[in-house]
Amino acid sequence: MRLDNKIALVTGADSGIGQAIAEEFAKAGADVVITFHTDEAGAAETKRRIEATGRRAMVAQLDVRNSGAVGSFFERAAVEFGVPDVLVNNAGKGMGEKTPVADLADDQLDVVLDTNLKGPLYCARAFVKLRQANGGKGRIVNISSVAQHLPTAQSAPYGMSKAGLGSLTRSLSVELAELRINVNNIAPGMIETPMTQERIDDPEKREASFKEIPWHRAGQPVEIARLALFLASDYGDYVTGQTWTMDGGLTMNWGGA
Ligand code: NDP
Repeated sequence: MRLDNKIALVTGADSGIGQAIAEEFAKAGADVVITFHTDEAGAAETKRRIEATGRRAMVAQLDVRNSGAVGSFFERAAVEFGVPDVLVNNAGKGMGEKTPVADLADDQLDVVLDTNLKGPLYCARAFVKLRQANGGKGRIVNISSVAQHLPTAQSAPYGMSKAGLGSLTRSLSVELAELRINVNNIAPGMIETPMTQERIDDPEKREASFKEIPWHRAGQPVEIARLALFLASDYGDYVTGQTWTMDGGLTMNWGGA
């Protein structure tokens, strides 16, 4: 699976799944624009890994909640680095403290929906404008979560945001078919990243989680990255609008362990 001489833009590529995707894409021949929100050192490390493969990298700070900043950043990246062929909407935010809906503050709701749902739409909009002006074609890969399928008690905003991203994937796939832009969505289960590290490092929490997962382990970011590579490469040409769940069987076993 190759991405030779393609340009990919991966949001939240300074750690975890986004970092692995950026690295795998570079190994497959792509130049990569990587954005970070707060972790500049992580982004510098991703850049180092990309350049070690012989590919180019551009690093920029971007808050995907800021619609104006997203629009101007995509235009700047196109001029300074090249028009992206592939967009990976990876940036996302967990719930932090689990909170019942009755106690939910507006801010808690807004930050999750703005990051996980509106952010990918802002990025997709900016990406599509660039592709429209440059002959169409392209790939969008969204990163949602098994939470788009499973109930998320005390984390309702997270589940809502990821289910919404699944819906956005389906809508965009139809809307962008004429341009030959494929739009797909990956729904990871438990993946070992900074978002889950505390749970994985705590023996009791880890055991409780792994018991629910038929594979009895967390996934690794590179496993998600390889699926993203398939969807971004020519091998994924005849698939659009789909959610690809990769979860060690978790969604097959919810509540059944
Ligand atoms: P990480 O914490 O490593 O990555 C989250 C990324 O999102 C970071 O790069 C972070 O930037 C970025 N980010 C957060 N808020 C913003 C914002 N407002 N604007 C721009 N970027 C932002 O965790 P993961 O790699 O696990 O998460 C990647 C994606 O995978 C997320 O969408 C997450 O919901 C999803 N996911 C993860 C699962 C898991 O088990 N790990 C399971 C299912 C889905 P910075 O670090 O610079 O602040």
